Amino acid sequence: PEAATFSELFADALHPAPRIDRARQETGADLHVAISLSFQAAFHGAERQVAVTRQVACAACEGAGEVMTAGGSCPKCRGAGQVRWARRHMVFTRACAACAGSGREKQRGCSSCAGQGRAVRSEPITVRIPAGVRDGARLRVAEQGHAGRFGGRNGDLYVDIQVRPHSVIRREGDDLHIAVPVAINEAALGSRIEVPFLDGQVQIRIPPGTQAGRRIRVSGRGAPTAAGDRGDLWVEVRLALPESLDERSKELLKEFARINDGDVRRGLHETFKAEY
Ligand SMILES: [Zn+2]
Ligand SMILES: [Zn+2]
Repeated sequence: PEAATFSELFADALHPAPRIDRARQETGADLHVAISLSFQAAFHGAERQVAVTRQVACAACEGAGEVMTAGGSCPKCRGAGQVRWARRHMVFTRACAACAGSGREKQRGCSSCAGQGRAVRSEPITVRIPAGVRDGARLRVAEQGHAGRFGGRNGDLYVDIQVRPHSVIRREGDDLHIAVPVAINEAALGSRIEVPFLDGQVQIRIPPGTQAGRRIRVSGRGAPTAAGDRGDLWVEVRLALPESLDERSKELLKEFARINDGDVRRGLHETFKAEY
């Protein structure tokens, strides 16, 4: 007696009955949706549900487009669901390919989907939006588009991100910019100020003699990047005066003017003279 070959022993495992016709497989079409986010939500990252109407695999036929009838027997295996064959003194069995082992006759064309293998369904899909996402970014959610046909791969879902502008923060690349009011005494004498920000307070040291328009860099407090680090935050100094001055403050400023009688526009005068 001779041993059966490997492929004969494992015929069932190596040749499972094909449930789907690979030649007919088609990849599903891609889907496109847009999500609008606040600047703050884009900074932190978010999860959003989007309602999509898409083609999904037909539940009745699991996308095959055909179902087995309840009645009639498979003509190939005469209802056994298996085919047998002998080689020398060994008998092998394998699931019948014609009926996928069910033993029942195939009905061409599923009645639920008219043989298309697909149905249309509206459903919410959860989209994860990474922290620091940019306005105009396009995210791809793999295989959440339209269903493929006859076992083909699903299409992808593409999400176009719109980030609404912030009223005081501006983004350039991965850096963020904010203009911050600083009192003239804080700018003149130097101070430590706290600035409210997207992810909590930012402490900033204002050096003595800080001029309006000076930009102070705060490393690593900008937008989160795809690489996992963060850009920088740039704080622009805006000198702020009290809306109205009381008599005592006016007196002090007049006193200040008497002591500091230098011309603050001298540099400007000289520039004009030099470029005449
Ligand atoms: Zn169907
Ligand atoms: Zn059969």
